[in-house]
Amino acid sequence: MPQKTGSVPKRKTSKRDIKHGKNVVSRKNKTIPISVFGNVMKQFDAAAKKLNTDSSVLEFIKIPRRSTIANLPVKMDDGSFKMFKAYRVQHSIARGPAKGGIRFHPNVNLDEVQALASWMTWKCAVVNIPFGGAKGGVVCDPFKLSNGELERLTRRYVADMMNLFGPDDDVPAPDVGTGPQIMAWFMDTYSMRENHSVPAVVTGKPITLGGSLGRSEATGRGVMISTREAAKYIKLDLSRSTAAVQGFGNVGSISAKLLHELGVKFLYVADVHGAIYNPKGIDIKKLIKYVEKEKTIIGFPDSKTVKSDSVLTAPVDIVIPAALENQITEKNAPNIKCKIIAEGANGPTTPEADKILDKKKILVIPDILCNAGGVTVSYFEWVQNRIGYFWTEEEVNRRLEEKMVMAFSDVLNMALKNKTSLRIGAFMLAITRVVEVVHLRGIYS
Ligand code: NAD
Repeated sequence: MPQKTGSVPKRKTSKRDIKHGKNVVSRKNKTIPISVFGNVMKQFDAAAKKLNTDSSVLEFIKIPRRSTIANLPVKMDDGSFKMFKAYRVQHSIARGPAKGGIRFHPNVNLDEVQALASWMTWKCAVVNIPFGGAKGGVVCDPFKLSNGELERLTRRYVADMMNLFGPDDDVPAPDVGTGPQIMAWFMDTYSMRENHSVPAVVTGKPITLGGSLGRSEATGRGVMISTREAAKYIKLDLSRSTAAVQGFGNVGSISAKLLHELGVKFLYVADVHGAIYNPKGIDIKKLIKYVEKEKTIIGFPDSKTVKSDSVLTAPVDIVIPAALENQITEKNAPNIKCKIIAEGANGPTTPEADKILDKKKILVIPDILCNAGGVTVSYFEWVQNRIGYFWTEEEVNRRLEEKMVMAFSDVLNMALKNKTSLRIGAFMLAITRVVEVVHLRGIYS
């Protein structure tokens, strides 16, 4: 979510913007739901079997450690009470406090939250920050709730799960449908119950409450850095390359803006309302301004509307899925023509599609590496909160650059050494790092 101080998602964008897409796949005329958690398990297993690790340790680190489900009563503006189902999954605390966002969305379910929590563990390990993985969610449509209802829902969520959270225990952040204002209410509720201010209990806060400079651009900046490193590796000259981006929210728009600054020409852009195309390249800065006003990319001057499906399979060098899970499946993967896929979104590619892309020698920068810039700067926010001293934006960006370049190189080396894809390389690296601490700590049983 964009991290504008004081904004709530209700005001930010239209309700369709966070609509989740096709978590189903058609096989032999049957529609089969895709389990997102099942996808993570497959990714884990594919990497784990290449490592010489005790299977009981693998089992221990693979399964979420704790899943909490609560039913939250919230007083609505009309005086009635409504129940909301809420989740917090702590996948791992092996490497440090559990870390991960809170999603407010009608499609939130345990399968999805478990998957997102697991990816957080592997993502934090890939960029080598001292956190485990977690994720939370509330089944609700934030666009249908008033500010007061959102505030009461947030406070009740914290109150119900109070014993899970803490700067050394579990540190949430925004995700789809939540933003800085909700993090501010979160921090206040937790602090009131502790009798003192505890900014480090949550990241993605408004800057004036202890948020970090650079956090709102961090995920897109990380996507730009990893794409730039991938281009170097395959000797793709970015200043002569073309790209397509699916999703033009926080991640998609910032990734596109920063890559555009390196000379990449964006020919296709899609959002939930449709897709646009300009063979000469879309002016990304102007498009960002246009979207701020119009809340959609559709109607942008100097572009024509094209089919949304054409964006991922467009004849460009770089494709950035930055919207939803399960967008690149066995159905459209055979038609993908680009050289690099930079996964801005979490889980945009299914394991079945991965096999096809691998055969086509398309370099996929996996989500747990590509979009890790966000959690990296969340870590910087937590550090700044704990030392009580704040860095300049240049300092934050410099440290992010260092972390992302190092993570890219570690993943690439692991993949090359084991002759695997970057995704399997990233999982192997992450699993190795988690296993290392588990061996040192032992399993308390
Ligand atoms: P956002 O709500 O700001 O933007 C989402 C964008 O996707 C919007 O432009 C929306 O119109 C578009 N979209 C939705 N459905 C679509 C569809 N069917 N086809 C095309 N476009 C569609 O969200 P965000 O923060 O940019 O997050 C996007 C993805 O990145 C999510 O998977 C999220 O989990 C992941 N992610 C975000 C961060 C972060 O810091 N924001 C960090 C890591 C990962």
